[in-house]
Amino acid sequence: MIAVIKPNATESQRNNLVEWIRGQGIDVHISDGHDYTVIGLIGDTAKIDMDLIESLDIVDSVKRVTEPFKQCSRKFHPDDTVIDVGGVKLGGGNFALIAGPCSVESREQIIAVAKSVCASGAAFLRGGAFKPRTSPYDFQGLKADGIELLLEAKKETSMPIVTEIMDASHLPLFENVDIIQVGARNMQNIELLKELGKSGKPILLKRGLASTLKELLMSAEYIMAGGNSDIILCERGIRTFETYTRNTLDLSSVPLLHEMTHLPVVIDPSHATGHSKLVEPMALAAAACGADGIMIEVHNDPMKALCDGAQSLTPDQFDRTAKRIMQIRGVL
Ligand code: PEP
Ligand code: MN
Repeated sequence: MIAVIKPNATESQRNNLVEWIRGQGIDVHISDGHDYTVIGLIGDTAKIDMDLIESLDIVDSVKRVTEPFKQCSRKFHPDDTVIDVGGVKLGGGNFALIAGPCSVESREQIIAVAKSVCASGAAFLRGGAFKPRTSPYDFQGLKADGIELLLEAKKETSMPIVTEIMDASHLPLFENVDIIQVGARNMQNIELLKELGKSGKPILLKRGLASTLKELLMSAEYIMAGGNSDIILCERGIRTFETYTRNTLDLSSVPLLHEMTHLPVVIDPSHATGHSKLVEPMALAAAACGADGIMIEVHNDPMKALCDGAQSLTPDQFDRTAKRIMQIRGVL
């Protein structure tokens, strides 16, 4: 990290700052220029509050030379991370489709959808049991019973399951879940991230509605700091001024994240767009720009879905989309 000091700073003001920095356990390198002085901070600056230094009258600007995220940085770990769930892999050249309904609604529904998406080539079954709905009056999910039904669907199809956790106290219910999802609304639920760091389970971490890529990586860093490096990042659209789509899909996140981190990146075109007709084109674009996986909502009867019917593909639509995604992968 470097701090550029304004020309009018007095020597004693400069010395006070240097002493404060040294007091944080950081070495200092001072370089006096013609007008400005640059203070180089040497050591583990991750704990240094950049904004605090920048707020000082004598400081012109502060810049990080190294990133605040370490364990998830590609600099720290040049090889791609591969998530391996009993032989089903994602990342490092292993592309995977994750598909299933927004919410688990009944045994018939989840088993029918699981069988159809499995036949179409999906590697993982998704389905929400705990649902973070905007309205408290909407369907909140089948909770523990929903997880039991997902496990029944897993038995029928052998597909590993992905489902969302909303509260760390529910972790015992997730004992047999293969991948635990952290939804967009909980990306910065720090206590939850810390608990998941100790869980020993692969985590699918979704980008927050208004979060930067750096914030997404800092959340991944919380999980890794707890000892868990099995993390899949998921871009699911961010909030912008556009209202034709539910969110705005930031596809540039795929190549950017691949440069910044070794963690695999999955695109969720369903929540990103909110419209079933936009899911396939955006899924193809995601495959074309190098996503490690794509997560798509599929419902056997979208008109009757208890949640997110408008963005859900039918099993037939998913089958066609899955084939076209694999064609794009083939071209690449
Ligand atoms: C979901 O995947 O079911 C979900 C609620 O998505 P998000 O957290 O991205 O809104
Ligand atoms: Mn949904």
